[in-house]
Amino acid sequence: MKCHKHLEENAVAACTRCWRPICHDCCSTVSGKMVCKERCEEDQIFTEQFNAIAQENAKVASRAAGTGMGLVLGTMLLLVCFFSLREAYSLNSYEMQVIAYIIGALGLSLDLIAVTTFFSKD
Ligand SMILES: [Zn+2]
Ligand SMILES: [Zn+2]
Repeated sequence: MKCHKHLEENAVAACTRCWRPICHDCCSTVSGKMVCKERCEEDQIFTEQFNAIAQENAKVASRAAGTGMGLVLGTMLLLVCFFSLREAYSLNSYEMQVIAYIIGALGLSLDLIAVTTFFSKD
């Protein structure tokens, strides 16, 4: 098979985007993929950059979702703690107070973990 552009040159590969046969001179490698210089090289670079940005966005979005869930759960636990504490004091129950404080500590640490995970770099 001959190069689509240089009809006297033997093709060394087919472009992975447009599938035209390309010779050594027309061949360019963009992150491991062989593409033709003339038409697909820039497209391929753009695609790679776009994918990198999309991946980064997806990572931030999933981290934000995790943080949001952690915050909601932590805050719910804090509310449970608050109401059980009120109940515990009105019933004068020491055990209930201890349990309420444990729930509160759990909620607080969950909130803290959620926030620090979001801002930590991976
Ligand atoms: Zn091409
Ligand atoms: Zn060529």
